Amino acid sequence: MLDLREGFLTTRLDVLLNWARSNSLMPMPMGLACCAIEMMAFAGPKYDVARFGSEAMRFSPRQADLMIVAGWCTYKMAHAIRRIWDQMPDPKWCIAMGACASTGGMHRCYGVVQGVDNFLPVDVYIPGCPPRPEAVLHALMDIQEKIRNEYSVALDYAKGEPRPPAPPARPHVLSPEGDEPVAREVLHRPLKST
Ligand code: SF4
Repeated sequence: MLDLREGFLTTRLDVLLNWARSNSLMPMPMGLACCAIEMMAFAGPKYDVARFGSEAMRFSPRQADLMIVAGWCTYKMAHAIRRIWDQMPDPKWCIAMGACASTGGMHRCYGVVQGVDNFLPVDVYIPGCPPRPEAVLHALMDIQEKIRNEYSVALDYAKGEPRPPAPPARPHVLSPEGDEPVAREVLHRPLKST
C-alpha cells in the first residue's frame, strides 16, 4: 500500500526481495558458437541491458544467477557447463538462446547435444538462428516475470532450505560427477526424431 500524503509504503518481504532480485540479475554468458555474437550485442550500449539491471556479466559461477547458453553444445562441453551450473548458487535461472541451444538446430549429429535441456533445467527458450538481441531482452523480461511470480523467500525460510533444487529435465543423461559410463551412454543414445 502506498500513501503519498502520509509518505509511507507497505509491502510484503517477498514482493520487495523479488523486485530487487529480478532487477539485478547477473548473467553468466555461456557463449559456445555464433549466437554468442548476438549475446554480446545484447550486453552492449545499443540495446542497453543496464535498463534491466543486468549489465554486470559475471564469469565466475559463484557470482552469477542467470546462465545464458548461446550456441550449439557438444557432449564434451556439456560436462563443463553442467559443472559450472552446479557451482552457481541458488536461486538461479537458465536461458537457452537460439535453435541450437534449444534443440540442436541444424547440427543433428552424433557429437552435438540435441538441446541443453538434456542436462540443464531451462527456464526460457529463445527461437531463431541467431535470435536478435531484442529477443534476448524479451527472454530476460520473461525471467524477471518468473522471479516475481514464482519465487518465495518466505517459503524457503519456512522450509529451512534455500530452494528445492530444480531437477534437470532428464536427470540421467549427465551425472553431476560426469561419470564416464553415463557419458558413454549419452554418446550412443539415439537422436530425437523430428
Ligand atoms: S542458432 Fe544459428 S546462430 Fe545460433 S549457434 Fe546455431 S547456427 Fe549459430
